[in-house]
Amino acid sequence: MGAPRRATLRFTSIAIGVALAIVASPAAAFCRSTTCTGDCPRDADGCKTTGKQLFWPGVCVGVSLQRDGSVNIPIADVRSVVATSFATWSALDCGGAAATISFSQLADVSCHQTEFNTSAPNANIILFQDTQWHYKGVDNTLAKTTVTFDAKTGEILDADIELNHAYNELTVSDTTVVVDLQSVLTHEIGHFIGLDHSPDPDATMFAGYDDGSTNLRTLEADDIAAACAVYPPTRSGKCEPAPRNGLGDACGASAPTTSGGETSGCAIAAAPSNTANRLLSLLGLGLALRVRRRDRFRS
Ligand SMILES: [Zn+2]
Repeated sequence: MGAPRRATLRFTSIAIGVALAIVASPAAAFCRSTTCTGDCPRDADGCKTTGKQLFWPGVCVGVSLQRDGSVNIPIADVRSVVATSFATWSALDCGGAAATISFSQLADVSCHQTEFNTSAPNANIILFQDTQWHYKGVDNTLAKTTVTFDAKTGEILDADIELNHAYNELTVSDTTVVVDLQSVLTHEIGHFIGLDHSPDPDATMFAGYDDGSTNLRTLEADDIAAACAVYPPTRSGKCEPAPRNGLGDACGASAPTTSGGETSGCAIAAAPSNTANRLLSLLGLGLALRVRRRDRFRS
């Protein structure tokens, strides 16, 4: 991938340590999300060491676009970028056989919020926040993926991706790029399928985005290794793209709840506006805060 990205000496030494420690899989620097939330123990690579690892139980996951899209991007363009971004993670080559995860674009939905309903229909929603952003970071947070899972098994029940178009100019152009929607989505879909940030600076799941870049549109070896680890070709599973309790158009009839599961969020955040370096962070987790702080003071 393009120009060097945040390859500090500290990260380099960590990457070498991992490569030596994991003899069988020298390229496996990736981290998986787990059921542990809050201040979780992590290894030298920054990967959580406790909790069940997250995964979608089926081999097909249904995804819906929030029907309003964005006021600033034609809906046809949004639909195309969403489809392309999910296709990037679909049926990846795990050394001659395909990873057992793919996606189905289901009907658009009117619900414009992240939620999981235990006793009402659901949708895995891609939605734009055009006028407000409630999360930490405000203007320097580009997107947030909320994953709801079974805390006992790590099974993912629902996932929603919110895009912060209220404070950032998301673009779909290949040539005039501000914040590339496809890059942001491709990174967030990694969280959507159960991946955490990777320490590999070349990985799309690395916690960084450079303004004007389209680098994160493609997956790197570390990202593919991660997907293959979670969804190996040998895994058996049914293709049932319908969300839990069926596809729901409106937000749930019952009060949104995460009972029986927990919710973790990941956000893409940007460095202060006087730098060209946007960062991706896990809200509330120490690793992301350290990364942001280190880059914040780098010129
Ligand atoms: Zn992220």
